[in-house]
Amino acid sequence: MKKNDEFVLKIEDMGAAGEGIGKYEGMTFFVKDALIGDKVRARATKLKKTYGYARVMEILEPSPDRVEPVCAFHRACGGCQIQALSYEKQLEFKQRKVENDLRRIGGFSQIPMEPIVGMEEPFHYRNKAQFPVGTDAEGHIIAGFYAGRTHRIIANRECALGVPVNRRVLDIVIDFMERHHVSAYDETTGTGLVRHVLIRYGFATKEIMVCMILNGKRLPHQDALVSELVQLDGMTSISLNFNEKQTNVILGEETQTIWGREYITDCVQRLTYQISPQSFYQVNPVQMEKLYGLALEYAGLSGEETVWDLYCGIGTISLFLAQKAKQVYGVEIVPQAIADARRNAQLNEVDNAEFFVGKAEEILPDFYEKEACEGRQAHADVIVVDPPRKGCDRRLLETILAMDPERIVYVSCDPATLARDLKVLCEGEYRLERVRVVDNFCQTIHTECVTLMTRKE
Ligand code: SAH
Repeated sequence: MKKNDEFVLKIEDMGAAGEGIGKYEGMTFFVKDALIGDKVRARATKLKKTYGYARVMEILEPSPDRVEPVCAFHRACGGCQIQALSYEKQLEFKQRKVENDLRRIGGFSQIPMEPIVGMEEPFHYRNKAQFPVGTDAEGHIIAGFYAGRTHRIIANRECALGVPVNRRVLDIVIDFMERHHVSAYDETTGTGLVRHVLIRYGFATKEIMVCMILNGKRLPHQDALVSELVQLDGMTSISLNFNEKQTNVILGEETQTIWGREYITDCVQRLTYQISPQSFYQVNPVQMEKLYGLALEYAGLSGEETVWDLYCGIGTISLFLAQKAKQVYGVEIVPQAIADARRNAQLNEVDNAEFFVGKAEEILPDFYEKEACEGRQAHADVIVVDPPRKGCDRRLLETILAMDPERIVYVSCDPATLARDLKVLCEGEYRLERVRVVDNFCQTIHTECVTLMTRKE
C-alpha cells in the first residue's frame, strides 16, 4: 500500500474527532467524513506502520445512521463534524466517548453514567457566533467559517447552528464594507481592517450585540454602520474591539462601545445576567439551563453551605448556587467577566456571593495558605469547578483535596482532561458518584458533562 492508493473498507467504529475507523489488510484507517456502517471507497492520504489516514472518494453503501445534512457546507466547514449522523447516534457517540475516556484515561471501572441529556431541536441553538471576514478571489468581502483545520474562509452567512439574526447582521456589515471601501483583514500579510464580527443574541430577551473586531483603532464611517444596525429589532449593544496582533486569538484586550449598552442581558429561570463581549457565556441557552440545574442538584445544598465556584465566568453557576447556599465564592481570570458577575449579583439581589479576579490555581491555594498562617483550616462544603478544555492545574486539585469538601461538582467541556483530573481526586479521598453528559454542542463532536464526587467515608 502506498499513498493515494484506493481501496474499499467497511467503517466499524468512530474516533474521538468523529472520523470513521475501519480495517484494510490488517491496517487501521482513520477516514474523515465516513460513518459507522458505511462501506466506502477511500484513498490513503498518510501511512504509518500499522495505521493510516484516508479520505472518502465514494460511499458505496451508506450507513443506516446517515441523514441528509441540513447544511451544504457541512463537509468543508470545520464546525459540524457529525451532522451527517442521526441525532440519536450522535448522542450515543458522546455518551460512549465520555465513558471511554473515564475508563481509559481516568482508570475507572465502575462508571455511574446517567442517560445523556439531548435536545429536542438540535439546530439553531447557538447564542454566539464569531464570523471571520475576508476577501474572495474577485475582491468581494466575504464572511463565513474557516474550512476544517485551515484558515481559509468559506463564505456562508447562514450557519445551521446559529440564529436567523446573524444573517441580517452580516448582510448589513458586508454591504457597509463594500460601499465604504472598508477592507477585510488578511491573515497572511497582517493587513486590512475588519477581522471578525462577533454576534450575541439573548434567547430570553431578544437583545442583540454586535462587536466588530478590528486590526486597528478606528472604523471609518462607523456612524453609517450604526445607523443600519440599529434598524434591527432588539439591537442593544454595538462595539469595536481592537486586536492588532498577528494571532489566532479572536478578541483583543480593549473594547469600545459605540452605540447602546456595554452588554446585553439574558435570563435563565429567575436569574438575569449581563454579558459583555469579552465574557464567557454558555453558547447553548436551552441546554445551559439543564446543565446548571444538574450542577445545582449534584451540589446537594441545604442553605448552610459554603461553596466555591471556580472558573465562574459572569457568575452564572455561582448565582444559581447562591439561591440555596449560605455563602458562595467565585473565581475567574477575565476581569470583565468578574465585573459582570458582581453586577449580576446586585441585579439579582444576591448578597451572599463574592467574586475574585485571578487564576483559580493561585487564588484558592493562596487563600488556603493565608488561613493556615492564621491558624485556621480553610474548608468548603462544596467546590464546583468548570474549567476550560485544558482542565484544572495540579496545584488547584491538591488544594481542593486539602480543603476536604463534602462534595465536588466538576463541570467539563473536555472528557479527556476531566478523566485525568478525576483520577487525581479519586486517588485522594473521593469517589465518583454521578456522571451525566449534556449535549450542548449538537452536530459537533464536543461534549459537556457534569460529575459528582463525594468523600469516601
Ligand atoms: N462557569 C461559567 C464559565 C465556564 S467557562 C459558566 O458556566 O458560564 C471557563 C471559564 O474559566 C472562562 O470564563 C475562563 O475565562 C475562565 N478561566 C480560564 N482559565 C482560568 C484560570 N486559570 N483560573 C480561573 N478562571 C479561568
